[in-house]
Amino acid sequence: MIYIFFLLFILGTCLGSFISCVAYRYKLGISIIYPRSFCDNCSQTLQHWQLIPIIGFILQKGKCHFCKQKIPLSSTIIELAIGVIFIFNAIIIANANLIFTLLLVVWPTLISLEDYYTLSVDSIT
Ligand SMILES: [Zn+2]
Repeated sequence: MIYIFFLLFILGTCLGSFISCVAYRYKLGISIIYPRSFCDNCSQTLQHWQLIPIIGFILQKGKCHFCKQKIPLSSTIIELAIGVIFIFNAIIIANANLIFTLLLVVWPTLISLEDYYTLSVDSIT
């Protein structure tokens, strides 16, 4: 059972990272697919190890590997929160109903981030 919780946590952190990325790219008006993830300050393309949710932030000690600019903590907190929510969802509901979590947690978080970044919400999200 602990493996399922661990996998749910990993899935939640990845989803949290994704929705943070989507909201931020919505703010910039760029595609969510291209270009690859980059530093907000120096625009360097990030390495794969830098993109691992939570671990990438820890390995870089909260600063960009290239320009040493401080990385905003908000996306890491969202990654952690969504990961924990996925675990609690599995415990409280007693099953891994990911559709329920997607609808009640992830989507409102995405809309909230879009609103936070742009003071608007896209009609298709
Ligand atoms: Zn940088």
